Amino acid sequence: MGEMNRRRWLERMGIIAAGSALPTPNLVGQLKSPEGSGKMRLDLSEFQPKSMLHVPETKVERSKYPVIDIHTHLSIRAKSVNGVGVGEKLEFLATPESVLPVMDRKNIKIMVNLTGGSGKGLEEAVQRFQQPHLDRFLTFTEPSWDHSNQPDYGKFQADEIERAHKAGARGLKVLKTLGLYLRENVSEGRLVKIDDPRFDSMWDACGSLGMPVAIHVSDPEAFFLPTDRFNERFEELNNHPDWSFHGHDFPSNAEIMEARNRVFARHPKTQFIALHVGNDAENLPYVSECMDRFPNMSVELAARVGELGRQPRMSRKFFEKYQDRIVFGTDAVPNGTDTPQQIFVDQLYEIYYRFLETEDEYFDYAPAPVPPQGRWRIYGIGLPDEILKKVYYQNAARLLKLQM
Ligand SMILES: [Zn+2]
Repeated sequence: MGEMNRRRWLERMGIIAAGSALPTPNLVGQLKSPEGSGKMRLDLSEFQPKSMLHVPETKVERSKYPVIDIHTHLSIRAKSVNGVGVGEKLEFLATPESVLPVMDRKNIKIMVNLTGGSGKGLEEAVQRFQQPHLDRFLTFTEPSWDHSNQPDYGKFQADEIERAHKAGARGLKVLKTLGLYLRENVSEGRLVKIDDPRFDSMWDACGSLGMPVAIHVSDPEAFFLPTDRFNERFEELNNHPDWSFHGHDFPSNAEIMEARNRVFARHPKTQFIALHVGNDAENLPYVSECMDRFPNMSVELAARVGELGRQPRMSRKFFEKYQDRIVFGTDAVPNGTDTPQQIFVDQLYEIYYRFLETEDEYFDYAPAPVPPQGRWRIYGIGLPDEILKKVYYQNAARLLKLQM
């Protein structure tokens, strides 16, 4: 580009004021013109296109019906070794007083703290949230992974579930630790399979105590592929390289799903809530197949409105067909900064409500300048009242045995 052309171009783009001194190319910021090509170059990370669509924008400040958010994290295990949470000590991410105002504004009747830990940690989680606010907070317990290499683990873990139930736990949460991090020697050795028989007594204990199992296995399909220019979640994986399960000794996504399914099949009296839309929101035909095979399986929505909302017609049919087995959850974490699609703030809930209640088009699935899980936007599915009620609270109330 000649000097005059370059000046005109920069002026037109608003990069320099008319008549000002021409900056050297590196002062132009992210827009770089390789010598002589005439084309600008732009880092993908700098690209923040604003939609020019003139379409309705509905602000849904409160959900139409009360909400049970069945997937939140108000506490986490304080210590973890190679991705495996160990010990009973918990770290608390919030106080009831800090989250109740958001809950009241957003019409959230109950928050379920899934990562309530075990033993003393669980007791403390119950004491902090559930006990003073019995109608607002519930707590789930978690397996004691650090005992999983002990010979008596099966019986120990089943007894622990019973103790947790007595201490006030309403369900069991299983993180993707199982299948992707837990190893024969807890943090070392061969990966332990999801359907390993040492857990059978744990799944059964949950069934007989009426405690649903909120289970997260695997992750988005793209996390199992190379982080390259063909990966639709390149930026996300590039920002969080430790989220990639490509290579090493990791099983494939399909192997993980099949192991999980064998657990569902072996424990028909246990209710399983397969988190993150059965962890395969990209493949609703497969999730549907699983729902048809396993009547003891429900799904939850957390951190997957980005997937559901980019296939609104398929999603709407899924909600119609499985309206009695879909529960509301967000994976909300108070005071986080890393993953905008999970930060516990008003805007997070407004996005979920907008997706479920409106037919708005092409809006952000997370409160962030760049869509954090992939560069696309979503469409609302405008559910009818009857389905909304089920998804917002009725299905969860049934699984949690609550009168609402
Ligand atoms: Zn979660």
